[in-house]
Amino acid sequence: MTNLTSAERSAQLRTNLEAVEARIAAACAAAGRRRDEVTLVVVTKTYPASDTRLLAGLGVTDVAENRDQDAAPKAEECRDLPLSWHFVGQLQTNKVRSVLRYADRVHSVDRSRLVDALSAEVVKSGRADLGCLIQVGLESETPEGAHRGGAAPSEVEALAEAVAAAPGLRLDGLMAVAPLVGPFAGDARRAFGRLAEIASRVRETHPAATMVSAGMSGDLEEAIAAGATHVRIGTAVLGARPTLR
Ligand SMILES: *Cc1c(COP(=O)(O)O)cnc(C)c1O
Repeated sequence: MTNLTSAERSAQLRTNLEAVEARIAAACAAAGRRRDEVTLVVVTKTYPASDTRLLAGLGVTDVAENRDQDAAPKAEECRDLPLSWHFVGQLQTNKVRSVLRYADRVHSVDRSRLVDALSAEVVKSGRADLGCLIQVGLESETPEGAHRGGAAPSEVEALAEAVAAAPGLRLDGLMAVAPLVGPFAGDARRAFGRLAEIASRVRETHPAATMVSAGMSGDLEEAIAAGATHVRIGTAVLGARPTLR
């Protein structure tokens, strides 16, 4: 990407977006789902604000970031664009205030301390509300397993209740990443199937929590087959990231 002009980079992003769009459309068709049931969220982490701007020009409506240090200045530079911002990374409570300045939704709510911090800060800021997704760690059913971000399935119901009861927070749904360890390692389809079961149980008590955020560049088909409503795509749109994050 280094030596491309803006027009060349835009053409490259357009080609990549078309390829991702074709994959999403095919996955929806294969699953018997309507295309408009799935929203593409482009994960712009590590890429410059100029790319975010080009993506908005190409019709992208939703972008995601995972580190506040990078996201905050980028969102500021892109404040004039009609974009919805999703925060998808592990969130420390001392970053909550900053994230709330630009994030429309946080996908990575995974503990009650974070629920409390988000709620307090939303109330203080005076903004209407914040959409929250509970991140489910599918490494194991209970918190005793190796969890790298995400509440265990056994903790989801209580956390959903906490979000729903917290002033300023709105429970929008669940998020997960296909796990690298545990019973679902290497089997994204079954992992996302388990996520769908948990999501459907949450909707019994919280019918408005309809978002299921699952699927990345390598497994969007499995996620859509399992009922994902939001896919989070980085590499397939922007290219391989220079460093692992
Ligand atoms: C980086 C990231 C993605 C996008 O991953 P790709 O494989 O680049 O598509 C999706 N979700 C989360 C939480 C991420 O951190």
